[in-house]
Amino acid sequence: MDDCLFCRIIDRKIPAKIAYEDERAVAIEDIHPQSPTHLLVIPRQHLPSLLEAKNGDEALLGHLFLVAGQLAQKRGLDLKGYRTVINTGAGAGQTVFHLHVHLLGGRAFHWPPG
Ligand code: AMP
Ligand code: ZN
Repeated sequence: MDDCLFCRIIDRKIPAKIAYEDERAVAIEDIHPQSPTHLLVIPRQHLPSLLEAKNGDEALLGHLFLVAGQLAQKRGLDLKGYRTVINTGAGAGQTVFHLHVHLLGGRAFHWPPG
């Protein structure tokens, strides 16, 4: 997807700080971090949002959360707590339409979220 920011980052056409990668996912540092740790776990496969996920995507979706959990542990966030978020649709704050899991940590979080 030439017009997709995250596809371009995954293809190394746009620079980003890559924190982790494997055959199915890439994690990058968010360019506008909302907490001391703010990573985005992105599937290599272009899926605009959770709305387009279908039967057969279970393993991929699970993998994104497993990677987020492992990165949280590596960054020492596991004891204090951290947040994993998927924004779906503009009304929920989604701005990049390539599915991604936010991993936020390193500060206190409130509930309900804004
Ligand atoms: P969302 O609003 O849930 O779609 O999340 C998109 C996230 O991508 C936001 O937190 C942005 O700060 C982040 N973002 C936008 N452009 C870049 C970029 N070039 N590199 C890294 N993160 C980005
Ligand atoms: Zn994409």
